Amino acid sequence: MAESFDTIVIGGGPGGYVAAIRAAQLGQKTAVVERDKPGGRCLNYACIPAKTVLRTAEIYSEARDGAALGVVAKDVSLDWDALGERRAAVSKSLSDGVKMLWDKNKVTLIEGDGALTGDGDVKVGDDVYAAGSVILATGSVARPIPGVEFGDRVLDTWGAWSLPERPQKIAVVGAGASGCELASAYGRFGTEVLLIEMLDQILPAEDKDMARIVERAFKKQNIAISTGSPVEDVEVGESSVKFKYGGESAEVDYLCVAGGRGADVEGLGLEDAGVELEENGKVKVDEYGQTSNPKVFAIGDLVNAKALAHKASEEGVVAVEKAGGGSPHPVDQNLVAGATFCHPQVAGVGLTEAAAKEAGHEVKVGKQKLGGVGGATVYDDKDGLVKLVVDAKYGEILGAHIVGNRACDMIAELVAAMALEGGYQELAQIVHPHPTISEAILDAARAVDGWAIHA
Ligand SMILES: Cc1cc2nc3c(=O)[nH]c(=O)nc-3n(C[C@H](O)[C@H](O)[C@H](O)COP(=O)(O)OP(=O)(O)OC[C@H]3O[C@@H](n4cnc5c(N)ncnc54)[C@H](O)[C@@H]3O)c2cc1C
Repeated sequence: MAESFDTIVIGGGPGGYVAAIRAAQLGQKTAVVERDKPGGRCLNYACIPAKTVLRTAEIYSEARDGAALGVVAKDVSLDWDALGERRAAVSKSLSDGVKMLWDKNKVTLIEGDGALTGDGDVKVGDDVYAAGSVILATGSVARPIPGVEFGDRVLDTWGAWSLPERPQKIAVVGAGASGCELASAYGRFGTEVLLIEMLDQILPAEDKDMARIVERAFKKQNIAISTGSPVEDVEVGESSVKFKYGGESAEVDYLCVAGGRGADVEGLGLEDAGVELEENGKVKVDEYGQTSNPKVFAIGDLVNAKALAHKASEEGVVAVEKAGGGSPHPVDQNLVAGATFCHPQVAGVGLTEAAAKEAGHEVKVGKQKLGGVGGATVYDDKDGLVKLVVDAKYGEILGAHIVGNRACDMIAELVAAMALEGGYQELAQIVHPHPTISEAILDAARAVDGWAIHA
């Protein structure tokens, strides 16, 4: 046996790195096994590089279109190399920060491929490490669409965010959060974008009202949208990709597949260790992340529910506290907000109006257009909406949805209101600072009973 630890975490992404720090805080001797970089895919290949490029798209389009706000920038151009350098530097800085936190908390980093042994210990190369408990946090990997393989011109999301030059034409297949973010960045950079979604709306997980607003905004960003149609007959050539969709043909520089990821369980030795999988290939766990082997927990993209970094991190905290003999509350998956950083941003928590009705609730809705509150005009953020879905009888907030340039920050208030079990009536009495876009939340709560001031 190479060394023993109280807790060994396999995978150092937002699930694993937080789990390791929490275990160390609880006084456990802790190690993380990571085959690549601290911070995992989120910091190095997904959330963070995507948001870094989106920030450049925001600055670029605002500089280019700023004349009405009194900013006349002549010859605004993109420096693609500088963009790539900043993208890499931001990820490196955050990844180094994770390593620093591990060091500070005396978490041992074991570099290499981790796998479970039959006893539920951890093997890395020829070394076997004894573990009191193991947290699996190996995340997920991109899956191509049927009949297509990833290669030079068929990209996964990382391939699309890290292109060496700006493409003239790109098709993005899958209009969930990742696909919409890609479309919105490249569209604003001036690339001709074709966004294709098999289901009948873009952002299929979001409330229909919100998706409609984004769809309208995308049409002003060089983005053509096709819904309800799969991509077929893909032919990959040397310098382009041809394919068919919804009765049309297209030829683009790159085809990016932005939907569909699968749990990264390859080589983890799950079967030998008695860790069972769900039918969809994710690791089967209880509400604390405990697998069918009581010594082994799994968190993050490896397990069911939304594939989001903040969900992974909180599952890490719960799993470690449970493994250490504590009594944590399970993560309330209904309160894990979705956040899409396209332009305008979209954020939502809890049930959509349709899902609330389907679940049998008698529903009331309050809507406030951002354009109604003063801040939205000041900050040029008028096209969005706040929508609250509430239980008609008790006033419980069942779902909250926001479209607007700051939606992903604003949603936190509604997550807090729901977590603290405040009803819409309480929200309707909370004084919000002026002039902020958050005043639209106040009026959305008042709108439920028809007394929004800025309707
Ligand atoms: C383009 C894109 C953008 C996204 N943007 C957002 C966003 O803005 N906000 C958000 O909340 N979510 C976002 N997500 C989702 C988010 O990236 C994931 O939910 C999150 O990364 C999951 O964290 P994790 O810890 O489960 O796994 P990961 O981040 O995937 O980390 C897993 C780690 O495990 C390591 N590993 C795997 N197998 C082994 C092994 N056998 N041994 C050792 N190490 C191993 C990997 O190298 C990796 O570092 C985005 C996803 C994509 C694809």
